[in-house]
Amino acid sequence: RTVLSKKVSDSRALLAQSFNRFLSTLPGRKLEDKVALITGAASGIGKATARTFINHGAKVIIADIQPHLGQETAKELGQNATFITCDVTKESDISSAVDFAISEHNQLDIMYTNAGIACRTPPSIVDLDLTSFDKVMDINVRGVMAGMKHAARVMVPRGSGSILCTASVTGVMGGMAQHTYSVSKAAVIGIVKSVASEMCRYGIRVNCISPFAIPTPFCLGELSLVYPHFDARQLVQLVHSFGVLEGTNCEPRDIANAALYLASDDAKYVSGHNLVVDGGFTSFKSFELPAPEQVR
Ligand code: NAD
Repeated sequence: RTVLSKKVSDSRALLAQSFNRFLSTLPGRKLEDKVALITGAASGIGKATARTFINHGAKVIIADIQPHLGQETAKELGQNATFITCDVTKESDISSAVDFAISEHNQLDIMYTNAGIACRTPPSIVDLDLTSFDKVMDINVRGVMAGMKHAARVMVPRGSGSILCTASVTGVMGGMAQHTYSVSKAAVIGIVKSVASEMCRYGIRVNCISPFAIPTPFCLGELSLVYPHFDARQLVQLVHSFGVLEGTNCEPRDIANAALYLASDDAKYVSGHNLVVDGGFTSFKSFELPAPEQVR
């Protein structure tokens, strides 16, 4: 069985590589010869973005804390994807990932600090677990700052570059997630404004994207704690039921397309911006998770 599943996985990777090669021959590519480093790209939004960037001609470094999954992802995405193990809480790992981009490709055009974790502390501020708070801030905020610092280190001398981060709708509007997570994502939006104000003098743009809920492992893992009786299909349906825009759901590729826009020359005069991808939700909607017993 192990041999069979390896064969299936190898032929899937081969198919994906051929498809990626075919895509790379298509005209209208927006990131031709660009080099991007994406943290948290072994899975979910980061992986979808890596795929989109590669399809638009970029070389992508997938920097993630999960080596096995990261290597699988790089294999699936083909020869323009390279994996490097990186824990964003370790500045030396981020510094090495940036140096790796330079040694492999001589340049870094796009830095996407996307890695993030959710928070499992109790919902009330009264019960706030500050140890957990520190852990989430370490990844979601300090990790982003470290990513920007080291991207700026190599982008400033070249006088160009695009830095992106993944914030969240929970950082735009209160009451949509645990305080710790919301605060960490609000901080990301603040970081973008602050760093963009300095980087503009070097021709470097700094932006973030605030996605709505998407059923990635990150989101499903959180919800499975609240709704332990749900199977995977029910959890995905639940996530999609939160959206307000009829006829469609928020998917990783929606964020990948937003990232493509911000990373490319299409957004050449856009900086300090938080691109909210939520089907309009935060413009007009209040939010409350239904109690487990109310959801069938
Ligand atoms: P995901 O679980 O699919 O991917 C997250 C990736 O980050 C994983 O591959 C994981 O290994 C990696 N990671 C975790 N800790 C890391 C660390 N210390 N160093 C390096 N890599 C690390 O989840 P996703 O939904 O794709 O999440 C990506 C980003 O999107 C996160 O910042 C998350 O907060 C944000 N976000 C997600 C949603 C959603 O509903 N899925 C909504 C808004 C924002």
